[in-house]
Amino acid sequence: MPHDHDDADHDHDHDPLEQGASLRVRALEELMIAKGLVDPAALDRIVEYYERETGPRNGAKVVARAWLEPDFHDWLLRDGTAAIHSMGFTGYQGEHMRVVENSARVHNVIVCTLCSCYPWPVLGLPPAWYKGAAYRSRVVREPRAVLKEFGLEFGTDVEIKVWDSTAEIRYMVLPQRPANTETFTSDQLATLVTRDGMIGTALL
Ligand code: FE
Repeated sequence: MPHDHDDADHDHDHDPLEQGASLRVRALEELMIAKGLVDPAALDRIVEYYERETGPRNGAKVVARAWLEPDFHDWLLRDGTAAIHSMGFTGYQGEHMRVVENSARVHNVIVCTLCSCYPWPVLGLPPAWYKGAAYRSRVVREPRAVLKEFGLEFGTDVEIKVWDSTAEIRYMVLPQRPANTETFTSDQLATLVTRDGMIGTALL
C-alpha cells in the first residue's frame, strides 16, 4: 500500500475533490465487500476502536508523561515509536512515529499533503478539516495564515515547522507545558492537552 487512506467515516467538507475521493472510497469498500475481500463487521470494529477506545486521550497521556519525566521526554523525542509503544499505544497508522517539540522559538504543525495520514493510536481519527484539500494545501504554503485562522499568532522570532506525514512516518506535536502547573498530577496535565494541540493548530 503506497499511501494509506482512512476515509472510513465518510466525512464531507463540501469540497468537490473530497466528495469525489469519499465516493471512490465508498465504491471501493462496497466492491471489496461484494468480492468478499473485507468483512464489513471488521471495518466497523476498526472505526469504532479508533473513535471510542483510543482518541486523543492516549496522546494526552504521552504528553503529560513527557512533561513529568525527563528520561521519557528524551526517549520520546529520540525514538517516538518505541516510547509511545512502551505505553501500549500501538496499532495501525502508528507503526512509525516521530514527536516534534514546541518551544518558545519553534512551533510545529502536522499535515498530510497527499491524503490524510494521521497517528491513529495516539490521536484517534482525524478531524474532517485535516482531511480537507484547503488545510492540506494551504498549511504548507502559508502556515502562519492558516494558524491565524485557528486563533494562533506567532511573532517572526518563532519559526513555524510544517511536518508532512506519509505512509512511512506519522508525526505528533509535543506542546509546551503551561506555566503554573508544577503541582499538577499526570491526569491533571493530560486533561489540558487537546487533539488540536498535538496537531499543532492549538497551543495545548
Ligand atoms: Fe496521507
